[in-house]
Amino acid sequence: MEEKCHDISLSTNNKNEKLQNADYKDEFMIEALNQARLALIHNEVPVGCVIVHNNETIIAKAHNQTNVTKNGTKHCEIISIHEIIQHKKCNLHECVLYVTVEPCIMCAAALSLIGIQKVFYGCQNNKFGGNGSVFTINLFNHLKPEYNSFQVGLPQNATPYSSVGGFRSEEAIAMLKKFYDTGNQTLPPSKRARRNKLSTD
Ligand SMILES: [Zn+2]
Repeated sequence: MEEKCHDISLSTNNKNEKLQNADYKDEFMIEALNQARLALIHNEVPVGCVIVHNNETIIAKAHNQTNVTKNGTKHCEIISIHEIIQHKKCNLHECVLYVTVEPCIMCAAALSLIGIQKVFYGCQNNKFGGNGSVFTINLFNHLKPEYNSFQVGLPQNATPYSSVGGFRSEEAIAMLKKFYDTGNQTLPPSKRARRNKLSTD
């Protein structure tokens, strides 16, 4: 296990949390990276994830599909959540997400709405990250203290969750770099120039 670089936990050593950082299982991040590799092959932004029930059994896995579907919301986390809900596979409160890149703001909010138990991620998402890099959606810390989640638009059943990153981050970054170095082939040639910052959109 690599040393974690970014720990956005509910509280340090929270004994009430069912899953601790030490419960990270490398085999699941490897499978998430396999999904990201599939995305790269299909000229999608290489981000992949698995959702694991009780930190034991993979019940959904996906990679980004925004290009093939022409739907900017088809991030791997959203696809996996839909898969589980559609087939009523289990209670998402009992599930943990392994994802190669820190969830974006959209996915971070979705994960709080479905009550994910915990997130383990690879590299940080410095442009759109919702688990600490840009906003800390997972802990609702983006909210002003005088507001509660209901008043600013998040439903009251939104649940905060712990998120920790830095697992196999170099592999996740290498795939993103490979994708952006050649340029997003779905964009017009004039817009394929290498970006200054890695992006997961
Ligand atoms: Zn996302």
